[in-house]
Amino acid sequence: MTARVLVVDDVIQNVKLLEAKLTSEYFDVLTAMNGEDALAIIEQENPDIVLLDVMMPGMDGFEVCRRIRANVKSAHIPVIMVTALDQPKDRVAGLEAGADDFLTKPVLDLPLFARVRSLVRLKVLMDELRMREATGQDLGIKIGPDLSRNISLSNAKVLLVEDYIRVAGRIQSYLEDIATVTVDNVESGEITTPGLEKFDLIIISLSLSEIDGLRLCSHLRSAEATRQIPILVLVDEGDTQQLVRAMELGVTDYIARPIDRNELVARSKAQIRQKRYANRLRRNMQKSIEMAMTDAVTGLYNRHFLSSHLDNMMSKENDKRKKVSLLMMDLDKFKIVNDTYGHASGDEVLHEFARRISNDIRNIDLAARFGGEEFVVVMPETNLEYAHFVAERLRRSIADEPFEISGSETPIDITVSIGLAISGDNNTSSSKLLVAADQALYKAKENGRNQVCSQD
Ligand code: GH3
Ligand code: MG
Ligand code: MG
Repeated sequence: MTARVLVVDDVIQNVKLLEAKLTSEYFDVLTAMNGEDALAIIEQENPDIVLLDVMMPGMDGFEVCRRIRANVKSAHIPVIMVTALDQPKDRVAGLEAGADDFLTKPVLDLPLFARVRSLVRLKVLMDELRMREATGQDLGIKIGPDLSRNISLSNAKVLLVEDYIRVAGRIQSYLEDIATVTVDNVESGEITTPGLEKFDLIIISLSLSEIDGLRLCSHLRSAEATRQIPILVLVDEGDTQQLVRAMELGVTDYIARPIDRNELVARSKAQIRQKRYANRLRRNMQKSIEMAMTDAVTGLYNRHFLSSHLDNMMSKENDKRKKVSLLMMDLDKFKIVNDTYGHASGDEVLHEFARRISNDIRNIDLAARFGGEEFVVVMPETNLEYAHFVAERLRRSIADEPFEISGSETPIDITVSIGLAISGDNNTSSSKLLVAADQALYKAKENGRNQVCSQD
């Protein structure tokens, strides 16, 4: 996985060194020697990740980071702060300024590549989610492009996998202000805490006495319920082998022992925030897909979805011998319902109508709201005889039981007319099939409503 990395440092030797290291690992490298240039390059070049020196004359790294975060165009770009080793305060301040991670000088190859790769991987995922969300919005759905990183951290839940009770207790107390920590001491050789999907972060010790922490990481990464949960591993200082393997397994972050309280809090917060941000994007995306396909009043599929679905079903690739039956339904004298009881009551009728239809068709059948008070049911692999039987049953389920509405004390009578057509012969495309069903519906209306008519 290659990526474009922007290196920002006011000392030319540092820039050159990082550039050489990253280039040797096939990253594309951009460079800047002060904050203003860095911001300009970010604006123009949209890098995948920024390595940012803290100490720079003029605008320092914290300020640059804050400005990257404040601009919607760059708010999502991962930032790694590069700090002096003897400034633990800086690291925490960097994370608070919105940095995703930090490295200490002198920058060692292994942590450098591990952290860059891990953040690039995360960014690829986030970019994909953001793109899909934008597609949802292109379909005409307004969800509000909420790309801000202002994520609430309240009620955060952390699972700590640690079998050394004293350490577990210490970590628990470090995190008590930001999260509820559940400790799993993996006594049985496995994580046994129930409801893993509820956690915002899983912290795993890689120095468990009985089992291999890496195996747990690998398992959590492959299981559906925990795949998206960030994992922070606790590694022994200097155990680079273990660290590399953890990073390869897709662990999101690590802390070396002895554990620094501020670092643990800052890293945990950053991970929880990322996770909630990704969740929000995912939820928005699902919502936008649903909204693009369904009708808000009835919850049925909308006309747009029906049309493309029917097109697919009737496309050339599909077996012509498999017949598609289609019902076109229109409520009878529905205008009178609106005029008598009001539009809101009319909506209640539509809602209940949709519910009865949904209850009365098979899973493979598809019900859609075609227009105002017109509905369509598509029945794949269904002959005319069976379709007629279903249509008649639907008609009765409407006519036989009056509708309760808030605009009337007594339930009101509703009826529906249904036109029926089947694919084949003249109905060779979705639009022809729809027209045929519509003509049959017209006949049903002409003949006195509250009945089913088939095409001629
Ligand atoms: P017909 O038996 O010939 O179908 O008579 P009709 O009154 O049902 O037909 P018409 O097409 O004249 O009127 C349809 C009515 O459906 C008009 C409109 O007020 C109502 N309608 C359409 N969409 C909605 C909606 O979303 N909510 C409500 N409450 N009414 C709707
Ligand atoms: Mg009508
Ligand atoms: Mg109508």
